[in-house]
Amino acid sequence: MKLPIPKRELKHAIWLMLLGAFIGWLLEYVLLGVLAGTLACLFIHLSQLKQLENWAEDTSKPVPDGMGTWAKAYSAIHHLYRNELRSKESLIGIIDRARSSVAALDEGIALINKDGNLEWWNPAAGKLLGLRARDMQQPLINIIRAPAFIRYFQHGPFNEGIKLPSHKHSGRHLQFEITLFGDNDKLMIVYDITRVHKLEQMRKDFVANVSHELRTPLTVLSGYLETFLAQADSLSPRMLKALQQMDGQTLRMKNLVNDLLLLSSLENEGLQVKLSPVDVPRLLQQVLHDAQILAEPKHQTINLNADENTHIMGMSSNLRSAFSNLVTNAIKYTPDGGKVDIFWGRNESGDITFSVTDSGIGIDATHIPRLTERFYRVDAGRSSATGGTGLGLAIVKHVLMQHSAHLTIESQPELGSTFSCHFPRSLITR
Ligand code: ADP
Repeated sequence: MKLPIPKRELKHAIWLMLLGAFIGWLLEYVLLGVLAGTLACLFIHLSQLKQLENWAEDTSKPVPDGMGTWAKAYSAIHHLYRNELRSKESLIGIIDRARSSVAALDEGIALINKDGNLEWWNPAAGKLLGLRARDMQQPLINIIRAPAFIRYFQHGPFNEGIKLPSHKHSGRHLQFEITLFGDNDKLMIVYDITRVHKLEQMRKDFVANVSHELRTPLTVLSGYLETFLAQADSLSPRMLKALQQMDGQTLRMKNLVNDLLLLSSLENEGLQVKLSPVDVPRLLQQVLHDAQILAEPKHQTINLNADENTHIMGMSSNLRSAFSNLVTNAIKYTPDGGKVDIFWGRNESGDITFSVTDSGIGIDATHIPRLTERFYRVDAGRSSATGGTGLGLAIVKHVLMQHSAHLTIESQPELGSTFSCHFPRSLITR
């Protein structure tokens, strides 16, 4: 049978009691001797317990000398304590290293709690955003007050960053990227993108200038071509074909120049645009009218289902460009006799949506993530044959960014596609 007490201690206790009994027998007080033996045993254990208590109060002292099982207990406790100390030290080391590496970063990092108040930031964020100790626990949107930042901070989309001029240092540009974590807390990373911004600005200016300069020669070219083609009867078939091809290519270049100019003006406007109330249902009637002219030769059916009561804050001309691009694409990439459905209003979850569904050629899933890149085409041959520039969806993406909206694309090859623009509810005017 296994005793619940250590055998060695039991043996010692019995020996002490026997020794007490023996001395007691010699002095003719056996019971007193046994009692003295038991008390001696108790005394030894209590003194060991006291030693343990003293040592526990200050574990930096050497491990006390223990007897028997007590020695084992001291050594086990000491071992546990040393292990705990080691893992504590290594954790502190990791935290220190993480802290000093975050402090050494050129990128600013800030933590914002679920109420939108600043909780912590690294020195780079302090410099880039001009934060001071008294800003701790203050709402971030009281410090960075740019409306575009406030829109991004409150509604996202957080999978993309936002670029803005610095509110603190004029001439500098910053990029903000927010990631949600925990209980709706936010981790914000701030980059100084002044150099990249300058280079980007040079590129934009170059593209805008070249496009602008190309406009006049193209107008002259297409003017002459139109005049020649008006006299088609007097032209040889070979010449007529050549002129028609030249006319087609000139039209393509004109479209390209117009799209490039629109894109660069959208880029220059950036996110700092002034939004005003837009009667979207009325705007869509105009889009529908243009679409019907395009769709007529292809015998396509176009349906518009627009909620008359949903109006939003926006940039009317840019919204029209974006919506027209999506509807024109649906017509372009849908075979003759197909169907295009345009929807404007709230979807099942109550979000404001503009969507265009077609019964067209569809898009393979591998292409979908890249469709909004400039000049990305699924089938370059088919796109240019339909007069495409490869810039339409890039324009849509820019316009949506100005409205804190985003694009989703669902498509099945041979069955058709749905392009949907999702707008934040905060833009609703009625
Ligand atoms: P493009 O001027 O070439 O149409 P976009 O940027 O508008 O350029 O579109 C990019 C590519 O996406 C197109 O070349 C086309 O391959 C594909 N695409 C766009 N809309 C549709 C659609 N409704 N159905 C099928 N493919 C589409």
